[in-house]
Amino acid sequence: MKRAFYIGRFQPFHLGHYSVITSIAEEVDELIIGIGSAQRTHEANNPFTAGERVMMIRHALEDIDVHFYALPIDDIQQNPVWVSYVTSRTPPFDTAYTNNPLVIELFEEAGITVKQPPMYLREQHSGTEIRRRMLANEEWRHLVPDAVADVIDEIDGVRRLKRVSRTDGFDY
Ligand code: ATP
Ligand code: MG
Repeated sequence: MKRAFYIGRFQPFHLGHYSVITSIAEEVDELIIGIGSAQRTHEANNPFTAGERVMMIRHALEDIDVHFYALPIDDIQQNPVWVSYVTSRTPPFDTAYTNNPLVIELFEEAGITVKQPPMYLREQHSGTEIRRRMLANEEWRHLVPDAVADVIDEIDGVRRLKRVSRTDGFDY
């Protein structure tokens, strides 16, 4: 049984993530999708809850031919024990797929094989760019799977993002 791990914040889950997952799915039997910074929500850079991100992933991957587990992973802010923390709450896996330099370093030090998936049209397919477009009332739906746009509509996500990104003009 080949099992792999892939982590992101998925704020929101977009077609870059989807493209990586479809290619990993061809190489493995099961995929663990770690939803990073799971505790963060209702912030300009992290507007969606872990549960909402689970919904996005579940609906977006409905037709993909791989068993997957989408598991929320809270931040612990202790890099030396982060890999043990992750592996203590996931099914066992042999390979981690990521392009994040810190995550690569931590997994490799722990003796876990790391593969770096190719970037899919990164200029537009980034969470930061999609949130910017939502705030600016620009087109964003074509950058996410249709099912993710439906989830964001269901939870009125753009309205929330706009509200949590606003300040009252004071620094407190
Ligand atoms: P943000 O801008 O909010 O940080 P992001 O687009 O970087 O969002 P994350 O949720 O941070 O996405 O997920 C990070 C993971 O997704 C990393 O492993 C990263 O390499 C991968 N990833 C992000 N965008 C793409 C893309 N366009 N193509 C392939 N992989 C991507
Ligand atoms: Mg990122």
